[in-house]
Amino acid sequence: MPADALKCKECSTTYPLEARFVCERCFGPLEVAYTRPEGTADELRRRIQAGPHTLWRYADFLPVQHARSALPTGWTPLVKADRLARELGIRELYIKNETANPTHSFKDRVVSIALARAQELGFDTLACASTGNLANAVAAHAAAAGLPAYVLIPNDLEEQKVLATGTYGAQIVAVRGTYDDVNRLCTEVSGERPNWAFVNVNLRPYYAEGSKTLAFETVEQLGWELPDRVVGPIASGSQFTKLARGFQEFIDAGLVSGEVPVMNGAQALGCSPVATAFAEGHDIVRPVKPDTIAKSLAIGNPADGPYAIELARRTGGAIDSVTDDEIRAGISLLAKTTGIFTETAGGVTIATLKKLAERGDIGGDERVVAMVTGDGLKTLDAVRGSFEVAEIPASLDAFDERFAYEEVAA
Ligand SMILES: [Zn+2]
Repeated sequence: MPADALKCKECSTTYPLEARFVCERCFGPLEVAYTRPEGTADELRRRIQAGPHTLWRYADFLPVQHARSALPTGWTPLVKADRLARELGIRELYIKNETANPTHSFKDRVVSIALARAQELGFDTLACASTGNLANAVAAHAAAAGLPAYVLIPNDLEEQKVLATGTYGAQIVAVRGTYDDVNRLCTEVSGERPNWAFVNVNLRPYYAEGSKTLAFETVEQLGWELPDRVVGPIASGSQFTKLARGFQEFIDAGLVSGEVPVMNGAQALGCSPVATAFAEGHDIVRPVKPDTIAKSLAIGNPADGPYAIELARRTGGAIDSVTDDEIRAGISLLAKTTGIFTETAGGVTIATLKKLAERGDIGGDERVVAMVTGDGLKTLDAVRGSFEVAEIPASLDAFDERFAYEEVAA
């Protein structure tokens, strides 16, 4: 394993690779510290290319000893979106289509890594605090591994996500409160149950590493080149910051040359504490009470918010927010130009991409990648009533009457 310690992001104190997430000295967040993977860049590239078509092909950059998961995850399509690019006036645009993961969102990545590490550390139960997609992933991966699962969610989540989670056999606990209340409760439960692995609480440093694989795949799928700009959603800010870390690790390993792309974050206006702090020039994020259709992004007190702001500034990017109507329009625009149906979080990303294009932020020679992180079947209410269904009797006359047809002359 190339990981050698957990390290505080604030004061750099190091700890062994245990289930631990907060610095004892300064209460800062911990993340995995790595040694450089063995071998030359060419050897490393060959090792990756000879690996499985899952995120485990990047085992040299992941904090587990034995790469494994019963539910293969990752290596999702990078779709060249020429019609959407034309519509928005962007030269070269790709959609990283995370709906293709086993439970149809990017959360399968983070759960894969957290579960593998949890098993190495001897935990016997998988758990999480979730806004919906993580609940799906924890339930499914626990089922595949034969572990019991407890998922704690706010009690107002989309029915589609709750139904799928329960079907995988997880115990759902619907908490009367916001995600931030759920998260606090999970931290308390985690302190009392030492054999439970809360993937995004006590296993958080390992869990967060899973998001790097999105960046690794993007580089490899672009033929070992970097995009110029990445647009992705921000909930806790973890994925957004780990994307940049993934690009940086590939640059440092000599696998690709260039700089970390310009990073653009996307939030829903109804839960936009990071976008607000960015716009006001603040480094600290003031918590908010979420009210948006983008429930998977509805984290009012985002743990990695300040790091997301620093990253956007450092790379010349920005963090924007979009209204619920813009989110619905974003879902529709993506579906009609690419054939990809995304959930509300993807609508946030595409609406933000559109805003950047209209504002003139995207240069005429740029290669842009947008992260579409979850499937539209998870949030069907967002599109209900957005189109008309033609209902007719089962007769040819009725069809012809409803849809006029003119034969084209040969
Ligand atoms: Zn510290």
